[in-house]
Amino acid sequence: MSGFGAPLPSFAELAPGIRRLVAPNPSMMTGPGTNTYLFGSDAVAVLDPGPVIHSHLQAIEAAAAGNIRWVLVTHTHRDHSPAAAVLAKRVGAELLGRPAPEGGHQDMTFAPDRILEDGDCLNVDGIDIEAIRTPGHASNHVCYRHAEQDWIFTGDHVIDGSTVVINPPDGNMKDYLESLEKLKRRYPVALAPGHGDLINDPQRLVDWIIAHRLERETKVLLALRANPRLTSMELVPHVYADVDKKLYGWAERSLLAHLIKLQADGLALVTNDCWVAVE
Ligand SMILES: [Zn+2]
Repeated sequence: MSGFGAPLPSFAELAPGIRRLVAPNPSMMTGPGTNTYLFGSDAVAVLDPGPVIHSHLQAIEAAAAGNIRWVLVTHTHRDHSPAAAVLAKRVGAELLGRPAPEGGHQDMTFAPDRILEDGDCLNVDGIDIEAIRTPGHASNHVCYRHAEQDWIFTGDHVIDGSTVVINPPDGNMKDYLESLEKLKRRYPVALAPGHGDLINDPQRLVDWIIAHRLERETKVLLALRANPRLTSMELVPHVYADVDKKLYGWAERSLLAHLIKLQADGLALVTNDCWVAVE
C-alpha cells in the first residue's frame, strides 16, 4: 500500500524483445504508475496497457511501430485493463485474458476474444509467453512467463516495494498464498511486476511476502482470541496498531481477507458480522 521505491523511466528496454512503458498514473495505490510491457518486435504483444490515457496509448503504439497483434491483461482492475479494449479495437489486435467478474472495482469493458487457462501459451516472435493462473489479489488474475528470459510478469500478484491489497470477496487470501507458492515453484530468474522495478531475487521476496502474511494471520488469530465477538472493523486497531489510522479502511479489507481464510481453515466463525476463534 505504501513504500514504493524511486520513480521509473517512462521507457526502458529490459532485455532483447522486452520493453516497459510506465503509464502516467502514479498514486499511493499504483506507485510510480502502471507498468505496460511489450513483447516482441516484428509481432508485438502488449501486456496491461493501463487506464485509458491518450499519451500512454500513443507511446505504446509508437514503440510497437504498427506491429501490435495481441493485447494481454493480468487482471481487470481499473489501473491495468481499461485501455485494452480501446487499443485492441484501434489496431485490430486479439484480446487475451480472463473476463471481469461481477462486482465492484472491475473494468467491465474487458471482454477477451480468447480466455486464457493455466499453461496456455502464446507464441510471440518465436518466444512462448505462458499464462499462469494466480487468483488471490483478483479472482481472474493471470501471470505470464517469458520462456526465453525465464521471467514472470506478475501484475499485482507481486509488486516491487509494497504489499498488495487483498480485497474480499473477489480478493481471497487463501488463494493468494497458494498462488505465491505456485510462483515460487517455477523458480523464475526475475519478476516483472505491474508496479515498480524488476525484481531480481524472486525466491527471497516471495518467501518474505508469505512469511509476512502468515505473521499477520497469527496476529489476527491472537487478537480474535483476546477480543471475541468484534466486527472486522473493530478488530483493526488490535491487529494493525502499526498502520496509520487513515489507512484503516484498507486495513479492514486485508483483515477481513485473513478472517475469511481462518474461517476456511476451520479456525474462526462469524455470526452477524461478529467473529470468534474456534477453540
Ligand atoms: Zn495495479
